[in-house]
Amino acid sequence: MINVQNITKSYGSIEALRGVSFDIQPGEIVGLLGPNGAGKSTAIKIITGFLHPDEGLVEIDGLNVLRELQAVQGKIGYLSENTPLYPELSVQAYLGMIADLRALPASEYIGLLSNAVYGTGLQDYLTRPIASLSKGLRQRLGLAQAILHKPQFLILDEPTVGLDPTQIVEIRALIKSLAQESTILFSSHILSEVEAICDRVVIIINGEVKADQRLSELSMSNDATLVLQQDSDDVQQSLTGLDGVRTIRQFRSSDDYPAYRISGSADITPQIYAVARDRNWAVRELRRDTVTLESFFNQLATTA
Ligand code: ADP
Repeated sequence: MINVQNITKSYGSIEALRGVSFDIQPGEIVGLLGPNGAGKSTAIKIITGFLHPDEGLVEIDGLNVLRELQAVQGKIGYLSENTPLYPELSVQAYLGMIADLRALPASEYIGLLSNAVYGTGLQDYLTRPIASLSKGLRQRLGLAQAILHKPQFLILDEPTVGLDPTQIVEIRALIKSLAQESTILFSSHILSEVEAICDRVVIIINGEVKADQRLSELSMSNDATLVLQQDSDDVQQSLTGLDGVRTIRQFRSSDDYPAYRISGSADITPQIYAVARDRNWAVRELRRDTVTLESFFNQLATTA
């Protein structure tokens, strides 16, 4: 488990992180989502032990990242924003160098190398100099070095940044497949990416966690939309007193019918339906609204 407790970090007068806390359970794949400048990279550098927080604590698998850094680094694979790749080395020589740096046992090296190379689809490029690789292939190599030692935790900073759409699809699929072996935290400023890859999203805006949300629970909105065929002057009054109704907002639907957005403390569509039938309203549409990650994020961003 990754446990981030109340971390703060300032660069001079810039407060990059202000009391950030969240947990990641074993086997989860969690997206750290936020606009550029929100503090994602800073958080990831602190979680991986590359940067010291001003305050707060990070534990990975029960180990204190600052005090037990070496043990922690054995458990994590890290793809930073700019993973240093040495252009003059071949893919194989580079991964060999990483294996040496990680002091991987020689007896396990071939197995680990082939796992990382096949896992990232680099088998046809082993002898190619890194200088000749496309951006997408370099990103795969960055992932290969991150997974070489079969880490329990994989931490990826903006893994698809700078890639073309085909490469993005490939890398996303690759990350999902890596989740079978590792607990994954990755950062992104792209909503669709987080939606495509992860189970849970931690939204960070202006250095603060604004939401920690399981995506499967996001679509359960308690808002309902009622659209009528014609105006009826008892709607507001009839709905206001209903159990669970919080607010009612009237608007015109896109095809110009009288419409109401009713927010509730639970699913209120059955009660609305009963009232509509009782009052003989000509109902054009009654639905429980769904929340997309985009609408959820935009609401947070505008209230930040
Ligand atoms: P993100 O990864 O979400 O884009 P960062 O963690 O890179 O955000 O940055 C958070 C804030 O800290 C930004 O305002 C950024 O300009 C600032 N920042 C990041 N790194 C440094 C640094 N080395 N020196 C000064 N300011 C920095």
